[in-house]
Amino acid sequence: MGPPGTGKGTQAQRLVQRLGMVALSSGDVLRAEMKSGTEVGKKAAQYVTGGTLVPDQVITDVMLAAIDRVPRATGFLLDGFPRTLPQAQALEHGLAQRDLRIAAVVDFQLSDDVIVRRISGRRICGECGSTYNVEFLPPKTADVCDRCHSRLIQRPDDARDVVMTRLATYRAQTAPLIKYYAERGLLRTVSAAGTAEEVQTEVLRVVKPLGCHG
Ligand code: AMP
Repeated sequence: MGPPGTGKGTQAQRLVQRLGMVALSSGDVLRAEMKSGTEVGKKAAQYVTGGTLVPDQVITDVMLAAIDRVPRATGFLLDGFPRTLPQAQALEHGLAQRDLRIAAVVDFQLSDDVIVRRISGRRICGECGSTYNVEFLPPKTADVCDRCHSRLIQRPDDARDVVMTRLATYRAQTAPLIKYYAERGLLRTVSAAGTAEEVQTEVLRVVKPLGCHG
């Protein structure tokens, strides 16, 4: 959990490489559906473009389907989902039906001014989805993905006015989940202010007691 631009996606990519898990990013799943022009993609497009949340039922169905594609013995990490209380409740129910449970929820904390700076420098690979930042995490060659050598792009919803909407949406609809998970004893808070390396060390420190040894 954490507002957009706090490095959740970057940390998810790093953690899964280190821990042999699968990362399921709801934003990536929706962008892939939009790119392929599926029914879900068509339903989601107007919300994603405007920086508001797609309906709970749509995202919940799509994420539970993604969870079902993960081999049973493999752990997974959810990035960007759940984002509302009804989504959290539907997830809890869906996981219980599958005899699965959440081990921990990591909350990334960062001030709004740093968030806006980070998002304006963010670039993603249009092909493999790897994320970079021109200031904080530059690719080896400007505008080229280190991993698959495709061209890097700026997400349309990373434009400043849409970022402001996304931040407000987070504060109003997603931040209440922090209390929900704290009450269940699942919340682990990390500062997202350091370098990707430093944040990774902190995240590993809070997930290690769960048996995740990278
Ligand atoms: P992200 O890449 O996580 O910043 O997500 C990009 C956009 O996808 C968001 O601004 C929403 O429009 C949509 N989205 C992603 N995850 C969710 C979710 N759990 N619930 C509703 N909308 C979502």
